[in-house]
Amino acid sequence: MAVMRSMVLEKPGTPLVMREQSVPQPGAGDVLVEIEACGVCRTDLHVVDGELPQGKLPIVPGHEIVGRVVAVGAGVKTPLGERVGIPWLGYTCGQCEYCRTERENLCDAPLFTGYTRDGGYATHVVADARFCFALPENADAATLAPLLCAGLIGWRSYRMAGEGKTLGLYGFGAAAHILAQVAVWQGRKVFAFTRDGDVAAQDFARSLGAAWAGNSTEPPPEPLDAAIIFAPVGALVPMALKVVKKGGSVVCGGIHMSDVPGFAYSLLWEERRIVSVANLTREDAREFLAVAPRAGVHTAVTRYPLARANEALDDLRGGRLTGAAVLCP
Ligand SMILES: [Zn+2]
Ligand SMILES: [Zn+2]
Repeated sequence: MAVMRSMVLEKPGTPLVMREQSVPQPGAGDVLVEIEACGVCRTDLHVVDGELPQGKLPIVPGHEIVGRVVAVGAGVKTPLGERVGIPWLGYTCGQCEYCRTERENLCDAPLFTGYTRDGGYATHVVADARFCFALPENADAATLAPLLCAGLIGWRSYRMAGEGKTLGLYGFGAAAHILAQVAVWQGRKVFAFTRDGDVAAQDFARSLGAAWAGNSTEPPPEPLDAAIIFAPVGALVPMALKVVKKGGSVVCGGIHMSDVPGFAYSLLWEERRIVSVANLTREDAREFLAVAPRAGVHTAVTRYPLARANEALDDLRGGRLTGAAVLCP
């Protein structure tokens, strides 16, 4: 019998452990995917560290999955061998007021890959075929993986930021390094903000076309039309408000942030906005996966074997990565 290996979280705050089981069979509407690569996202850290409301336990984390369909359940027409991507949004009810008004990202009864249904820190995964997306055959699987969350939810954040010319990105990790390329391709000016003294991240941002890169405590050389915050640091919200123009937006792109400190109303005054981005819709995925190759997006990845998932998480936690960590089973 074929064996599936996975890195499992049994209890938040403890390391993942390797488990083996027989390869599951896809149910009606599902595909069984043999995984080529799975990105490591900051949300995985929040799941593993127990910073989100309790999901499924034990759980296999991972929601930036690239793999090939090796079996399909009843009613699924996806050809065997097709390369697909599996993102965070794993299922929506289709019936709640949000699903019925094209806001399935806010569904009342969703399932999220790697949080409330098993994800991609594994050799195999079962997914709902309606929430999988065809991916290019001729690309390296590891470099595609970060597109599936850093790219997709990044794209949703990017669109929320509006059409202004000057865009600030706080936290220059996986999402920002993808969006910076899209923004530069669209003729926008990117301002990259990093942890104080993170010269490597600042150099990396400039190498991707950022007009300016500096510490998040520094003012940029010109005021911004909008800012997106990817770092999970609430104190960045008032700092970003301070450097956006009248009518500008501050978009919080992460699922979890430390508390936002109090700030003077004058920072919000003049129609500045603060907005969070929750999850993604399938339409976001279709849009972004079409835009990324046109924009020539290249992802910088650091590969880890599946068994070293804990090390990849630690490196992300410690800010020791340039670009994105990817597990390759
Ligand atoms: Zn719904
Ligand atoms: Zn993610």
